Amino acid sequence: MRDIAVVGSLNVDISVRVPRFVRPGETLRASGLTLGAGGKGVNQAIAAARLGGRVHLIGRVGDDEFASVPLGALREAGVDVTHVAALAGMHTGTALITVDEATGQNQIAVDAGANAAVAVAHVRDAISAFRASSVLLVQLELPPETVDAALTLARAHHLRTLLDPAPARELSDVTLALVDVLTPNESEAEALTGIMIRDVESAAQAGARLQARSGGDIVVTLGEHGCVWVHATGFEHISAPRVRALDTTGAGDAFNGALAVTLARGESLSSALREAVRAGTAATLRRGAAAAMPSPADLLALPDSR
Ligand code: ADP
Repeated sequence: MRDIAVVGSLNVDISVRVPRFVRPGETLRASGLTLGAGGKGVNQAIAAARLGGRVHLIGRVGDDEFASVPLGALREAGVDVTHVAALAGMHTGTALITVDEATGQNQIAVDAGANAAVAVAHVRDAISAFRASSVLLVQLELPPETVDAALTLARAHHLRTLLDPAPARELSDVTLALVDVLTPNESEAEALTGIMIRDVESAAQAGARLQARSGGDIVVTLGEHGCVWVHATGFEHISAPRVRALDTTGAGDAFNGALAVTLARGESLSSALREAVRAGTAATLRRGAAAAMPSPADLLALPDSR
């Protein structure tokens, strides 16, 4: 198996529970403070490593005390952080999260910090990680030109390119053409195409529109309904195991990490998507994001797909 290069964000997630959301100008008593690793780059790198991948994360933190939170979690999971440096005078990306105890809904404010300063040159400096890898995994929490540079460098070194287009923003045809497998969730597929996703058919329709622009494979993830894979000659619906989900945070990150590691193992996209769906489902059985990324044993313990 060759390695996996993840070019992505590193955050610290600071979360509290509130009896209801705070109103403007108001101060409210909160509880249950947690300070944990986050950022889609971190979550997806950890997901791939937990499932046995050799993973290199390429990104930046600040030169503050928060940096140790994502770096510690990555090291514990066995992710190579040689290509994560601290930028002087900057702070580590930070998400402030409040969770409504009654409804489980959340409100999140993110300061990208050092993630916004990950430059094209930083990606190029990590060329040794690209050379060792057969898969690149990237998301949209970094500047657009940095994402394009990662995809371009990966193509030049014959890596399979995976883009999770989260958080949603418009993508140029140039970017889309650099992607082998695009993995929007329902709302991202809607934002990219203007097609409302209501069911498998509308997901396939949105996927076909993106497929025509990209030329690659499009995978629209559908939460409890699994995913729809749209390729050049048709589409396939892959359903998810039926479970009682506890917390769906990080499901998409587990999906993408598992997809990357299964492809790096040399398996077909068809079997990699089946593994990715099961990993996404397993992540819904634990709270949190990085902490919820499943092990191989967690996948074995799942019921069969419906
Ligand atoms: P995101 O977290 O990016 O919004 P999704 O909600 O589409 O992504 O979830 C990604 C994958 O996680 C799905 O394709 C599915 O395999 C799994 N998943 C998510 N929610 C559930 C659920 N309630 N039950 C079973 N599987 C789920």
